[in-house]
Amino acid sequence: MSKVIVITGASSGIGETTAKLLAKHGNKLVLGARRESKLQQIADDIKSEGGTAIYASTDVTDLSSVKKLAQLALDTFGQIDVWMNNAGLMPHSEFIKGRVEDWNRMIDVNLRGVLYGINAALPSMREKKSGQFINMASVAAHAVHQGGGVYSATKAGVLMISDALRQEEAAAKSNIRVTVVSPGAVATELVENVTDPATKKSLEKYYDQTAISPDRIAASILAAIDLPVDATMNEIIIRPTSQG
Ligand code: NDP
Repeated sequence: MSKVIVITGASSGIGETTAKLLAKHGNKLVLGARRESKLQQIADDIKSEGGTAIYASTDVTDLSSVKKLAQLALDTFGQIDVWMNNAGLMPHSEFIKGRVEDWNRMIDVNLRGVLYGINAALPSMREKKSGQFINMASVAAHAVHQGGGVYSATKAGVLMISDALRQEEAAAKSNIRVTVVSPGAVATELVENVTDPATKKSLEKYYDQTAISPDRIAASILAAIDLPVDATMNEIIIRPTSQG
């Protein structure tokens, strides 16, 4: 069945790859991220393969921008079947380095951005009594390592927010499904945006040796969306087979 699927952070990595796979399977894609030229290119790629995609430059730290993305989906396609809260960043560093700007950006994008997505999409899903959230967490939501304290806190927060949402929607009998995706190392632009040079270097080495293709994550998301609606994959933990 063709669904209307909104993806934040659709301009690269897991978001881009998932958008392209879901479009190939006949779904209508609504793409959001800050880099509009990348979104345009991805929408053109999807259309050249016979798929359907629209986009809007979106900053998930700005509630009005996120609401505009939701409105674009509703105005164009009349409904939102799936909202994927995917935008995120991982500028690891030890606390002693005092990179407060990075901490704030992670809280704003990884946590506040997810809440804004829920705020933008939930009312119309409630009205329709159907819908699905796909919220990107991480294996870092389950275990913390040095340098990853703030990132893990935001991703553990995504887990908690998602489970509370799941319980509330189950109680309301709204048929709204909540799926958390917790990947291990995936080859995307994530490490490029690490700002602390020493941390970036060691992460690059680790990712070069370990990371899997975002195709793998996209395939698991397709499976979660295509599952019959009376069942939900509540969390998918998917990591490279060789990741310890
Ligand atoms: P990428 O860096 O390739 O993608 C991140 C996306 O987030 C980009 O499209 C970027 O677009 C978007 N983004 C960043 N800030 C904002 C913002 N303020 N508003 C809107 N969009 C924003 O990394 P991944 O594909 O790896 O990351 C996707 C998700 O997967 C993240 O939540 C990440 O934490 C999670 N994840 C990734 C793992 C990995 O190893 N790669 C492992 C576990 C989880 P733009 O710059 O155009 O705004």
